[in-house]
Amino acid sequence: MGDGLLDFMSFWPLQAEEDGSGMICTYLIILGVILIALYLGLYLYNKFLVGKRTKQHPCRYCGHIVDAVSHCCHTSVEERFMGGKCSKCGKECKIICARCKRPLY
Ligand SMILES: [Zn+2]
Ligand SMILES: [Zn+2]
Repeated sequence: MGDGLLDFMSFWPLQAEEDGSGMICTYLIILGVILIALYLGLYLYNKFLVGKRTKQHPCRYCGHIVDAVSHCCHTSVEERFMGGKCSKCGKECKIICARCKRPLY
């Protein structure tokens, strides 16, 4: 059992180097995996947000469940953390209530 593991370790290319270069190689691979995981997470997060673009919000001023619109063009908005991006002019904008035009956040 233990011998089998040792054989496996000696075949493992990352452990073959005696000096520090093997460790650096391992760190680089781990870093790469973390970066790929982060990128994938961000991609899925963005996809999730795009899918929720037409999500409705409760407005604390008029008390209705309303569509969120941009304050600049009063059109649909791509929601982000702490704000949004106007789908018409493409600028950063505030998200407002479609009914009473007051900020939702
Ligand atoms: Zn409102
Ligand atoms: Zn706009």
